[in-house]
Amino acid sequence: MTSGRRSVEEHEQHVAALLDPLRKKSPLRVPLAHALHRTLTEDVESPLDLPPFRNSQMDGYAVRAGDLASTPADLPVQGVLAAGDTVAALEPGHALKIMTGAPVPDGADAVVPVEDTRATTPDSDGAGSVTVERSVTPGTYVREAGTDVCKGDLLLPAGTVLAARHIAALAAVGLTSISVRARPRVAIISTGSELVTAGSELGPGQIFNSNGPALAASASANGADVVTIDHCHDDPEEFVTMLEHAVGVADVVFTSGGVSKGDFEVVKDTLAPRGGQFVSVAMQPGGPQGTAVVDGVPILTFPGNPVSALVSFEVFARPALRAAAGYPPVVCESLPLTEDLTSIPGRRQFLRGRLDEKGVTPFRGHGSHLVAGLAAADVLLDIPADTTSLEAGDLVKVRIL
Ligand code: AMP
Ligand code: MG
Repeated sequence: MTSGRRSVEEHEQHVAALLDPLRKKSPLRVPLAHALHRTLTEDVESPLDLPPFRNSQMDGYAVRAGDLASTPADLPVQGVLAAGDTVAALEPGHALKIMTGAPVPDGADAVVPVEDTRATTPDSDGAGSVTVERSVTPGTYVREAGTDVCKGDLLLPAGTVLAARHIAALAAVGLTSISVRARPRVAIISTGSELVTAGSELGPGQIFNSNGPALAASASANGADVVTIDHCHDDPEEFVTMLEHAVGVADVVFTSGGVSKGDFEVVKDTLAPRGGQFVSVAMQPGGPQGTAVVDGVPILTFPGNPVSALVSFEVFARPALRAAAGYPPVVCESLPLTEDLTSIPGRRQFLRGRLDEKGVTPFRGHGSHLVAGLAAADVLLDIPADTTSLEAGDLVKVRIL
């Protein structure tokens, strides 16, 4: 077992190295329906032209612009063309009633919107004639084939994190599956004999497990698949059983609780004799941190206080998971403080705070158990270890939650 003090930067590097293998998983092909929020591993070229054929941008009449040299002009209506229909050609001197998305027939070179016409006879079947009020230039309201993307063009570059708009583009060119990064598989084990899963009754001395759901949500939001989520009593045998299951199904395990200096530190007591490293990181909250490797699977052990657990995830796990998923790095900004601030020396402080147009305001209550306070925060203020005071207006590094 290794113990001692570490800077945040040293522990970040240690964790990044431990989780580096997560970035090297082989890509996989997934159906489009499972592609949302995944990262493309290859450039995608369009297998066809979009639009695939010349079609109408308006409900109106397909015409030859040359037939409308003087307006108003009366044209016999050749028929009706709905989206999905086809017709050989527009006869000279005629108009063809056409709906948006229907192919513009050979011979036609423009579409007159229905608003610029008057049907001169009832034409529910498209027969009769139409009076066109205004002339048009060739090409008006005609969407030419390939004007969106051409066959062979780059549709989406490798590295794109797929949002709904990317799925739309992939579906539009008829692709059914794509090659994406494998997501890291995450297991979460919360420890604590006081923990109860929401949905059961709270007994005396018990609290609901919030770290399990919180860490699972954090992992999913950062590109991971949560494959198992469990909690155990402060009982080494129970913990080992869960851990053995977890390392069998996951690429990385996050635990919460059981790493401090109390009498029943189940995580530390179990993993320290198996080569785990338990250190005090110069940060607040989240000082007690540990890592281990069991059956080749990295384990990050976070302290149990809910704010400490989530700040630990934010600082150490989130960057590594995002790198593995191919997501862009965590966003940090420098923003002005709205009020003065003091900070204890020697520890990097991560303070909860709120952002508005005036800048960032730290919360007053600092307790690591304050879950409602955490929920009210939208940023973490990152105060360097050697900073002891800051004034309103000073720039402070902020992580957007
Ligand atoms: P520990 O790190 O195990 O000493 O726990 C520190 C504090 O966090 C204690 O007050 C625990 O009751 C609380 N705690 C530990 N695990 C959880 C959890 N999963 N959900 C909510 N609170 C927890
Ligand atoms: Mg505990």
